[in-house]
Amino acid sequence: MNKKFYVFASCMIVKGAAQSIIYDLQRKSYEYIPNVLHDILIEYNGKTIQHIVDDYGEENKEVIVEYFEYLLQHEFIFFSDFGTESFPKMDLTWYSPFQISTLIIDVSEKTFSLLEKIYNEVEALGCGAISFRFLEVKNYSLYFEKTMQIFAKSRCRSFELFIPFDSTKNVEYFNKLTIQNNRIYSIHVYDAHERKVEILDEIKTPLFYHTETLVANSPHVSNMSNFLVNKDMFMESQHHNTFFNRKIYINQEAEIKNAPNCEEVFGNANQDALESILKEAEFQKYWNVKKDIILVCKDCEYRYMCTSDKKPLKKENGLWELEEKCAYNPYEAEWA
Ligand code: SF4
Repeated sequence: MNKKFYVFASCMIVKGAAQSIIYDLQRKSYEYIPNVLHDILIEYNGKTIQHIVDDYGEENKEVIVEYFEYLLQHEFIFFSDFGTESFPKMDLTWYSPFQISTLIIDVSEKTFSLLEKIYNEVEALGCGAISFRFLEVKNYSLYFEKTMQIFAKSRCRSFELFIPFDSTKNVEYFNKLTIQNNRIYSIHVYDAHERKVEILDEIKTPLFYHTETLVANSPHVSNMSNFLVNKDMFMESQHHNTFFNRKIYINQEAEIKNAPNCEEVFGNANQDALESILKEAEFQKYWNVKKDIILVCKDCEYRYMCTSDKKPLKKENGLWELEEKCAYNPYEAEWA
């Protein structure tokens, strides 16, 4: 009761309209807490529990002690006799060595012939992840393995594949593919007969079967499975929109856009350089629209883990709002 408590620097407390969340950035997990506990942790970090009881009254002691037992059990706090200067806060400056965070490319007859050019550009710019989408059901097998060969020596760390269901490609086939290319971190098979997930034996890559058809501007469904809790995501979302920032999309016609759900075309991969398009202010217009300046999202406790693709629209007062309402209501803490 009389020792000073501190919240671990890697545990971030984020307040929403109806509830708060502790983001454990080291463990990549999160836990809900009531807003009153958020306020206590912000105001009393570096003070004693007795200090809180003195302020809130003896009648609230039992609840306060219960809160701190919960925090200790989850290792969100520790006790120390040292002062606050001994426990600096985490620097939230975000830096990425990649000029492209994610490249999404729809491999088609047109874009396949440009893959060598795109590969060279992407290698020079640096890219965190590439999503290869094969939407041409009839011809995809002509391009699929050759695409993997072209990018086999890429310095990009992770590949995500979207391919149509094909009864000739079974789990053994995908196992072999991921052993040959360790960069593949997930495979999505669309138009499948049943929805299921397989974990490939060797590399533990998830293989998702979806019954839905994949269309070029398929919305990215905003739900809790798209939430990401980690240090990089938390830091980037303090400054940027984590869906649009540094993303490039090349569609089946080789047109270059910021993302699949954007209408504006900024060039064609056939003749335009990705590097110069990336520098255009108009191309970057959503990059800095962080959730903190988007109406509703700014009151949402998920705002530093959410990767929603909904486009923001600028309002007159300097704030933004989502073009399409999110399924989550942070004022009621409920999903529609
Ligand atoms: S309200 Fe905004 S931050 Fe919250 S889940 Fe929806 S899109 Fe994400």
